[in-house]
Amino acid sequence: MTYPRIAGGRLTWAAVQHGARPALIHGDQTFSFDEIEARTNRFANALLGLGLAPGDRVAVLLNNCVDSVVAVFGAEKAAQTYLALNARHTLPEHAAILNDSQASTVVLGPEFAALAGELPALVPSLRHVLGVGFKAPNALDYHDLLGAAEVRAPRIPIPDDHIERIGYTSGTTGKPKGVAYTALRWQQRLDNQFHAMEYALGVDDAMLHVGPLTHAAGVYLLPCYLRGARSVVADRFDAAAMLRDIERHRITQLMLVPTMLSRVLDALDAGSNADLSSLRIINYGTAPASVELLRRAVKRFGPILRQQYGMTEAVQPLAVLYPHEHVIEGAPQETARLGSCGKPTVNVSITIRGADDQELPQGEIGEIAIAHHGIGAVQFWRQPQITAASIRGGWYYTGDLGYFDAEGYMYIVGRNKDMIISGGFNVYAREVEDALASCPGVLEAAVMGVPDPEWGELVAAFVVPREGSRVTPEELTAHCGARIAGYKKPRVIRLVKELPRNHSGKVTKHVLRDAFLQETEAAKVPA
Ligand code: ATP
Ligand code: MG
Repeated sequence: MTYPRIAGGRLTWAAVQHGARPALIHGDQTFSFDEIEARTNRFANALLGLGLAPGDRVAVLLNNCVDSVVAVFGAEKAAQTYLALNARHTLPEHAAILNDSQASTVVLGPEFAALAGELPALVPSLRHVLGVGFKAPNALDYHDLLGAAEVRAPRIPIPDDHIERIGYTSGTTGKPKGVAYTALRWQQRLDNQFHAMEYALGVDDAMLHVGPLTHAAGVYLLPCYLRGARSVVADRFDAAAMLRDIERHRITQLMLVPTMLSRVLDALDAGSNADLSSLRIINYGTAPASVELLRRAVKRFGPILRQQYGMTEAVQPLAVLYPHEHVIEGAPQETARLGSCGKPTVNVSITIRGADDQELPQGEIGEIAIAHHGIGAVQFWRQPQITAASIRGGWYYTGDLGYFDAEGYMYIVGRNKDMIISGGFNVYAREVEDALASCPGVLEAAVMGVPDPEWGELVAAFVVPREGSRVTPEELTAHCGARIAGYKKPRVIRLVKELPRNHSGKVTKHVLRDAFLQETEAAKVPA
């Protein structure tokens, strides 16, 4: 016989292991593993007390705080299906996700108190609204519920196919899609994360979380918790505050999206004297980082950068570029690796596929198709048609484009929705973005295709100049001309103050494209 899994059993195990040691630090408050265990048990029992059945959907909308962790862990212990709402979304977007998931319960932070009155009318499946730190006529008080609940772990047996979480994609290329994680799959995701981190996380570590915990939670918070590392939680990203926190808490690991990395480097260049000697690893990922940015980061921090390539659909991470692979001086093929996202992780196979789904030879650009060994394929939540369309011949087609070099390093060149076909030539956004970012006056750039009657599409670039820079479109065209083929050079260049981004730090190119299309005057740059 096989003994069943216990919902949240590994969380209780971590508390037994690490007991009174600090687990979570937020502002001036420190919570031990024992305290988190007690609080999550109470929340789990409170949910069960509401009459929720295993697998009911519990949605959480909280900014970073201890309860954004308690809610994730408590829902897991109550054998509920947890899903996170995105603090940046609007009311209709929240309602769409709650209706898609058929959520029975929503947990709201004080900043979202107004939703307590609005959501029930829009989401027929909603039976309970829990207010954390606020009172409203139709919301139950979270703290009252916790106070009245039993402190012992419920320890509910769950089958392998119990849906533990629904992860919604970032919605960079369309509407967010729900990805269902079974208990087995979630465990595999965690195991793979540990492998990819080479177990380089332990009781002496302290990780600073500056992104939304509800979204990063599964990726870095849980590994920290299970390994007994301290998690220091910031309300939000702020470069100067982050540098102070690193010194104050002797932070050893960070997770940043590329924009944050760039802001931190700017803050250091501006003369911060924070003591960063405790830092061992700076993890980064979720969006392309330019070679220029990484070169700057390695120069400043040394070989402590570690890139992950992953996606909501995948057992995280799919590929890792380790610190020792971030080479800025040496053989050309070694320095070129800064543009790579590394090699596939354990139990993950990656192939590059052409238009007819055939595997392409090494060096050729095509769609990145993945397989996870030992677990079932990607499963979209109640979207069998999307699941069927994206899994072909046993491979999950990611929508990302890339290629492998002769040594097995993978390079992402963009998304297939973003590939530009100009005059019959394929242009990949990433290459043009990197060429633009290598211009000293440029902070960052986003490249996309815009319709053109003559060429089909034109390469258009939205460029953010560095503060104080007077870089002109003509200079940028000349700069690109010396680096990339003529047909790849941007024909339309717009200088903008900033790029629109979603909560994962990804540029929402459709917003730029739509704005561009609405304009009557296009600033075309001569060839
Ligand atoms: P949607 O699928 O809704 O359009 P999304 O793909 O942005 O949104 P996520 O699952 O959050 O949603 O993000 C995964 C994507 O992020 C990957 O498919 C890839 O395009 C990008 N990405 C992740 N890591 C990296 C990386 N290290 N380098 C470049 N791109 C990355
Ligand atoms: Mg995606």
